Amino acid sequence: MHVLVTGAAGFIGMHVALALLKRGDTVIGLDNLNNYYSVALKQSRLQQIHEQASQQSFQFILMDVADREGIAKLFAEQPFDSVVHLAAQAGVRYSLENPLAYIDSNLVGFAHILEGCRQQRIKHLVYASSSSVYGANEAMPYSVHDNVDHPLSLYAASKKANELMAHAYSHLYALPTTGLRFFTVYGPWGRPDMAPMKFTKAILAGETIEVYNYGKHRRDFTYIDDIVEGVIRVLDQPATKNSAWNGKKPDPSSSSAPWRVYNIGQQQPIELLDYIAALESHLGRKAQLNLLPLQPGDVPDTFADVEDLVTAVGYRPTTSVDEGTRRFISWYRAYSRVDF
Ligand code: NAD
Repeated sequence: MHVLVTGAAGFIGMHVALALLKRGDTVIGLDNLNNYYSVALKQSRLQQIHEQASQQSFQFILMDVADREGIAKLFAEQPFDSVVHLAAQAGVRYSLENPLAYIDSNLVGFAHILEGCRQQRIKHLVYASSSSVYGANEAMPYSVHDNVDHPLSLYAASKKANELMAHAYSHLYALPTTGLRFFTVYGPWGRPDMAPMKFTKAILAGETIEVYNYGKHRRDFTYIDDIVEGVIRVLDQPATKNSAWNGKKPDPSSSSAPWRVYNIGQQQPIELLDYIAALESHLGRKAQLNLLPLQPGDVPDTFADVEDLVTAVGYRPTTSVDEGTRRFISWYRAYSRVDF
């Protein structure tokens, strides 16, 4: 397969690109290498991909998904089979201060990707949604059948908007799309703005960690390899048997149009203080904590119901937080020379 992976220099994008290359796919990786966090880390991830790919199997394109002409030209020139769209402005907290950063990348950029997929009639668009779409959901675990219309941040709103936009394209143009609501992803080459990397760095430096909601948040921490396995399995299964795909226009009122959304999460939420204890145990160092109240935009708990994913592709994440943290810390010790 010839697959476009957007956000390929990002945390999840790098691992997805590597997994696709490993099984023999050709990957076009696209990223704008923005400076939301360390560009050196993004370049190191790209270097990892280049080292493990042959020259023919991986090509990197420096481009912004908000570049309408650029994206249209790319789709016109490259015969992609499928697209894994991960490029986005991530981060809930950042969206409180910079809401407009989310419009260009997450809404305009997503529209360009949808349009490119429609024009090229690609087999499947898999894109990143987020557990944040559940907002202040009260029912646990979070199910894709819950009515989620109360996002608590513009980041969450942009991800929910992506699902709605994909729904319209799937129904109107029979474009197979699958949105994946990832739950707090961690692991090697992770994001420096997220707790695992930020806390590890601070613990090793003897610095104080700011812990919101007094550490009572529960997060469904999900190991990167489990996310990648889910993405690949979903990617390989474009649409349901009853799908209206095949180039015909579906009946817009039909529920058989190939639009899907799944959760991918570990299904074992733990309190942030327990997560910090796991880091302390693997690092052999105590953390210094500054316990603070809940921040605007933050949700108190996340907890994935993955039964729809299991039914569709026969897969559920399995890596325990203890094992995932052990692997993450072992990577961190080996690579902490990279400028995070
Ligand atoms: P990341 O920030 O590491 O990766 C995103 C990549 O996209 C970055 O390399 C960035 O440079 C690139 N990018 C951003 N805006 C772009 C634009 N306009 N044009 C081109 N490239 C652009 O984040 P990640 O953790 O790898 O997340 C990947 C996707 O998964 C994102 O859509 C994110 O919202 C979603 N997600 C992540 C998590 C998580 O826990 N990591 C949870 C839920 C959803």
